[in-house]
Amino acid sequence: MSDKIIVAGVSVDTRHWIGGRRVASASGETFPDVSPIDGQPLGEIARGGPVEAEAAVAAAREAFPVWAATSRAERARILHAIAEGVDRRLEELAIVETTDNGALLRSHRRGVMPRVAHNFRFFADWLLSLEHEDFETRGHTNHVSWDPAGPCVLITPWNAPLMLATWKVAPALAAGNTVVLKPAEWSPLTASLLADIAAEAGLPAGVLNVVQGYGAEIGDALTSHPDVRRISFTGSVPTAKRIAASAAAHLTPLSLELGGKSPLLVFADADLDVAVDLAVEQYDNAGQVCLAATRFLVEESVAEEFTRRFVEKASGLRQGDPRDESTDIGPNIHPRQLEKIDGFVRRALAAGARAVIGGHRKDGQYYAPTLLTDVAQDSEIVQEEVFGPVLTLQTFSDEDEAVRLANGTRFGLAATVATGDPERAARVTARLVAGTVWVNCFFVRDLQAPFGGSRQSGVGREGGTWSFDFYCDLKNTVTAPGGWKSH
Ligand code: NAD
Repeated sequence: MSDKIIVAGVSVDTRHWIGGRRVASASGETFPDVSPIDGQPLGEIARGGPVEAEAAVAAAREAFPVWAATSRAERARILHAIAEGVDRRLEELAIVETTDNGALLRSHRRGVMPRVAHNFRFFADWLLSLEHEDFETRGHTNHVSWDPAGPCVLITPWNAPLMLATWKVAPALAAGNTVVLKPAEWSPLTASLLADIAAEAGLPAGVLNVVQGYGAEIGDALTSHPDVRRISFTGSVPTAKRIAASAAAHLTPLSLELGGKSPLLVFADADLDVAVDLAVEQYDNAGQVCLAATRFLVEESVAEEFTRRFVEKASGLRQGDPRDESTDIGPNIHPRQLEKIDGFVRRALAAGARAVIGGHRKDGQYYAPTLLTDVAQDSEIVQEEVFGPVLTLQTFSDEDEAVRLANGTRFGLAATVATGDPERAARVTARLVAGTVWVNCFFVRDLQAPFGGSRQSGVGREGGTWSFDFYCDLKNTVTAPGGWKSH
């Protein structure tokens, strides 16, 4: 069996990357990787288990002391070199990612992959700007330092594979940690390319390790490992609960970026064209976006007009091959995901919902962009994350009701407010439970800003200083007055 998958001429190694070497699974087992674009198999990927988890953590542990002691300037230099490698191979990364997870090639080219490079540059520069803090207490000097924590396990989902992986890898490495990255089994390829790029950039062996496999088979061995000092996970709530239970064995600190059921609140005073643009954007990545505002909450007096304009605009979206520049909506990731999406919609329709548009599967792995009305606040379709192009619309009569509906799920990842009244915006945003709130905009994100979810949308925040705080052991060293005295 080949150790390579060739995608559009790009060769991707399908083995693990452990201690600076490509290794097959000890068991010799593999799992199939299939493109969501046409359902065709791309090849076989090494199927890791506890043996590979142990080897990767051991490699990360061995590499840690030297990397942690490497000067900040040198670490930053290597991170910049990785960013340059990403830039150089941007086109390759874009086509491989699109083939593997079905998200739009044009987004990968213009937005996502440049952002991947930016992740490395941003955290390299942030590292150099970190100031150690010193202050005095009754003549004693306090010296606060950010010490690298140790080997970190980073586990990522398939909806934005390399973007989400590097958002963790970059700050973890910048902070002086070593890493074991476990990408999702439905989109394993770009993590392998990242290992190549990092090695070419001069990252020492063992500092970044990539293990492939099913979460259920390799996950526990990684997350319950006593030598792992941090676990950063992006994925679903049920998996997060398993990981939290497993990490409890050694009280390993966790960062959890989870699902959402975010609202878009449209007030009657909003510019409806802006509101409709924001609404249609929620079909991006075929609805497979954690931040997506999947619940439209629209003030009664404008609901009919909003819906009319939304349907008109959404009907113009082109669904098809994500490699085609004119495509707006690509396929969903996997037949199982499609089945899950369709199950949600069928149950909602059976419970009395009405499909204003969509509500059904299309050929291949595509789901028709869907908007459902006549849905109750406590219904499954309003309460549960679908992770597909399925949106709901409810109406409200006043601000209190809008906020109550918006906050009325177990999630709290994001919220978007469309209003023409700045005072209303201030009042409403203050009352929303969400890690990120956008006013008359959507998806604008700065790496300096804290990012994460409230309630079951997550634990902790990533971005800027929050990432460094997570990946470091903060230490305060207190020295006696007068400095050093021999006793
Ligand atoms: P998932 O939870 O099924 O899988 C995520 C990762 O966890 C995969 O790599 C998987 O192999 C691994 N995994 C599974 N079981 C494991 C275990 N027992 N131990 C360790 N690892 C295990 O999620 P998914 O379906 O890949 O991703 C979709 C979910 O991710 C959605 O809920 C979405 O909202 C969420 N998400 C959140 C954010 C955010 O920033 N908040 C961003 C993107 C996606």
